[in-house]
Amino acid sequence: MATKKTRFEGTFHGGLAGKCFMARFQMSEMSEQAKYERFMREAILEALKGDVSKTSPNPLVGSVIVESGVVVGRGFFESDGGPHAERKALADLGRTPLPGAALYVTLEPCSTHGRTGACSEAIVKAGILEVVVGALDPTPAHRGAGLHTLREAGVSVVADVLVAECEAINPGFAGRET
Ligand SMILES: [Zn+2]
Repeated sequence: MATKKTRFEGTFHGGLAGKCFMARFQMSEMSEQAKYERFMREAILEALKGDVSKTSPNPLVGSVIVESGVVVGRGFFESDGGPHAERKALADLGRTPLPGAALYVTLEPCSTHGRTGACSEAIVKAGILEVVVGALDPTPAHRGAGLHTLREAGVSVVADVLVAECEAINPGFAGRET
């Protein structure tokens, strides 16, 4: 954060040219891809709050819910058998999401999950209309199934955002069924 501030101060000393640079910088920051990456980084930070020794054999996963450019809900997968990151972010929000709300998650939402039901279905039920995903589920039987469920329900899905960074959260993770 300190580094960022210093860079901004440097820009302000640039006079008119600096202001033009700032305007361009802000415009590029508002591009869709930059927005996706910005909030996916927030989701990655959530995932990294998890402790592999508690989640194993399941992966670390983080999720945030964004409304009007603000993170309004956060969650991460904390322990094997516990609620998944997406459900924790929805619970953290604690209310019906606004119509423009987007849910970010570092790993594709699950399409099947025991008696509590799949996260992809929970997201649909919650009324989220946009989901931004990092890595796909590496489990061959599940890969892409969560995204399919969401799209079938009319949810706009953006996949492969910071996929390398999201995959790096769980080195060697080859799937939920081993
Ligand atoms: Zn799940």
